[in-house]
Amino acid sequence: MSALSSKELPVDLSELEGRKFVCLDECQLCCLCQPELLEKEVPYFKRNFPDRLVVRRSPHKHTALALKNGHGPCSFLDGGRCSVYPNRPHYCRQFPFHVHLSERVQVELDLSCRGVWLDHGEDAQAFGTQLLADNSAALRRGIEDSREVYRVFKANCSEAGIAIEPGKLRREFESKLPLMTDPAFLGSILDRSMEEDEMTLAELPESRILDAKAAEELQLAAMETGLESLAAEDTFSTPVYCDPHGTWKIFVSQDSELDLYEMDREGKISRLRGIVPKRVPLLAPEGEGKKLFTDYLATLNRRDSFLGYAYYLIDDYGYDDSLSNVYYGAMATSALDLLWRSSLLAHIWGGRLDQEGMREGIIFYDMDRLDAPTIGAFM
Ligand code: SF4
Ligand code: SF4
Repeated sequence: MSALSSKELPVDLSELEGRKFVCLDECQLCCLCQPELLEKEVPYFKRNFPDRLVVRRSPHKHTALALKNGHGPCSFLDGGRCSVYPNRPHYCRQFPFHVHLSERVQVELDLSCRGVWLDHGEDAQAFGTQLLADNSAALRRGIEDSREVYRVFKANCSEAGIAIEPGKLRREFESKLPLMTDPAFLGSILDRSMEEDEMTLAELPESRILDAKAAEELQLAAMETGLESLAAEDTFSTPVYCDPHGTWKIFVSQDSELDLYEMDREGKISRLRGIVPKRVPLLAPEGEGKKLFTDYLATLNRRDSFLGYAYYLIDDYGYDDSLSNVYYGAMATSALDLLWRSSLLAHIWGGRLDQEGMREGIIFYDMDRLDAPTIGAFM
């Protein structure tokens, strides 16, 4: 198969620059993401493991590998090892890389994978280049579909008088990154983004001392954002946090209450304790944690999947809002969600949002970005 030329198919691998990754034996977090099979992979599993396949109808019809007990890790995870390793699906082979298709191809690195934080092992950029080359035919087909979706979206925006200038937004956001470590600034963005007229970040006060009432409101807003992102009908559909010992922790929020569970490698779930969300203080990043936090926001700001998320919201809101209000509002919400979840981990296991505390928060948070709706698609 021929490699992709950037002329026929613009490719962005900048998120991978200078990064390395290694797979950690004790983790197996990605074996919790039910792998979807490519069409060409179905016959092998149908022939050899017909009772380990499930057909899913959402978000589109596809075949996936069965999970243990219907909700735990992949049924092929055996004693901490993949029992079909040489024949594991494409999805498993490419983890922790995600290929997003919009008007171009962009490769993201899943920062929930602990193996990308160790700074040794395989060169991420070389892996990403090979990944694209190995799938060039499917990418060419996929990009045609996503370009058509973008064409329709932009035509709708033009009809509604919504300006689409992502480069300008991204540059403005990048220039204000140092201010984002102050939760009060994030609160200002959030408040302003809900007003009708178009916003810029330059108009916001750079420092704001919150009085007790405003501080409490911000704490509540962050808590509600965090609880909403952890809300689920059951324990099987909320984000999983793989702790530094490789243990899978699950937080489930229901009716403003929060419970912490643990899941073993067989999919058995035990409740560890309840947490009173109002007792979780919203912390601010400190020391080296500030750099990690702003680097992470810079990564989100470069991701086409995040921009596609803002586009999705515009479409969902009926083309009534400006892109800047939606984009900055989504960024501030994500940043507050990340801060609250990081504060939650620090509250339970002790700690601050220093380098270690922020890293754990990002590990807990980043996998959710994959589930966020986006205009475009992950391949
Ligand atoms: S999440 Fe990363 S470290 Fe963990 S099993 Fe998957 S690839 Fe390996
Ligand atoms: S097929 Fe193997 S690598 Fe893929 S999710 Fe299942 S156990 Fe993990």
